[in-house]
Amino acid sequence: MIAQHVSAADLVGCRYRQVQRQVHPEIPRTRAAAMRKARSDAARAAVHARLPVGPALGDRRRFLRTDIPPLQLEEDTFSVELATLEALAARADLITGAVFTGNSDGIPWRVDVDLLVRRPDDTYLPVVISNHRVARADERSTATVIATARLGLGEPVQAPFRLRHHVADGYRLAFAARALAEIGLDSGTGAAIGQDRSRAFLAPTAPLQPALDVALATELPIGPRHVKECATCRFWPRCEADLRAADDISLYLRGDRARDFRERGINTVAGLIDAGLGEASELAAAWRAGTVLLRRVDTVTAPATDVEIDVDMEAYLDQGAYLWGAFDGEDYHPFATWVPLGGDGEAENFARFWHWLMDRRARARAEGQSFAAYCWSNNGENHWLKMSARRFAGRVFGDVTVPAEAEIQEFISSDEWVDVFRVVRSQLAGPSGLGLKVVAPEAGYTWEDGDFDGEESINARRVSRGSDAAAMQARAQLLRYNEDDCRATAAVRHWLRAGAPGVPRLGG
Ligand code: SF4
Repeated sequence: MIAQHVSAADLVGCRYRQVQRQVHPEIPRTRAAAMRKARSDAARAAVHARLPVGPALGDRRRFLRTDIPPLQLEEDTFSVELATLEALAARADLITGAVFTGNSDGIPWRVDVDLLVRRPDDTYLPVVISNHRVARADERSTATVIATARLGLGEPVQAPFRLRHHVADGYRLAFAARALAEIGLDSGTGAAIGQDRSRAFLAPTAPLQPALDVALATELPIGPRHVKECATCRFWPRCEADLRAADDISLYLRGDRARDFRERGINTVAGLIDAGLGEASELAAAWRAGTVLLRRVDTVTAPATDVEIDVDMEAYLDQGAYLWGAFDGEDYHPFATWVPLGGDGEAENFARFWHWLMDRRARARAEGQSFAAYCWSNNGENHWLKMSARRFAGRVFGDVTVPAEAEIQEFISSDEWVDVFRVVRSQLAGPSGLGLKVVAPEAGYTWEDGDFDGEESINARRVSRGSDAAAMQARAQLLRYNEDDCRATAAVRHWLRAGAPGVPRLGG
């Protein structure tokens, strides 16, 4: 049995982490984990800046706020637990940085509760702060909401929002409710503050308990299995060695993708290669041989137009799109905003990009040339094209206007908007997937910032909003990253058009 305290984060994703943490506590956190922590700290700081520090003007009630200094996960919790209990005994109206430990059916656990808010009946409302979108505005729904600035002072109200559940937030609130129940202070309600730092959304905690029971009762795995989160996990070198020694099939088919084969008793890559299962066995053999791509068709092709623009967009979480980049075959044209998203800055930037793109199209048409804009896997671009229009349509900035959503819809449904990933997927197979970072190097394209991935870009965007040297560096890096993706998409198109030379035929 694991003697260390289990946290909500341990119960989400790979459960083998819990085993490795027990066996190898000395292995330090990865850079990605440190960046995630920096984002959580920033979220907490943004919320703390909005919390009340005293009673509202003219309110003569007593208001006691207790801030418990933060503690690292690995540190001994005794002092903060004690400080939490003392703040509760003092009937503090608002407590930040609370920590509880408990034990459920022999499993010791620990929960960090960002805020505890005293209710009129002297019970407490636990509040978690996360970087999730915990609710969406929705006129057809109703949720219980309180302004962050009124926590500990006011009462919640009903407002038109639809709540979104996030497993890890749910486990934290369920743990917090258990701890409060233990000392007779459970209000039966918990709250979450997400990307919108100005509001806390309330919901009952009883429905969260059964899922927590199931998670706690789940047997820990006896060995690793290659999953997506291995890429940023501190235990990967050890797990990889074990997986390679076992020739585990998850090395090739991550996560649950090998479930059907495992059910048939195939647990190794060699077993899949030898099973004679047609394409599945052939792709596994290609993976083992280091072959990156295979052709599904005799002749590989790609659409061609006289004027070709490759587009790539960068968004920050659910907040908005801050960079629309376009490569016209000669030059890269970035449309970027570094101010907070959701306002005129984002709207004007989008309007300027759209105006530029439509101007290129109009010029092509005027000269009797065909035109298309190309994009790699356009789900994100389609989402933010539509969302930008939905939020800002009709706003005028000098000589540009944000288009209506109908105009966007017409464009993205037309032949002038081509998803290059789809073109690739219909003609090629990739034993290691068909991401742009997999395909473009086969087309001869390499990235300037080789290891700058999606998570790095989220972090860089956070840093880019400052005005110091680090912010300028982050902006330059984001622009390079976006330009690279635009140019890589163009390189793939040209290579497809040349017939994807060097790619062997599947089944050949
Ligand atoms: S490397 Fe992968 S399998 Fe190993 S503990 Fe981390 S996430 Fe789990």
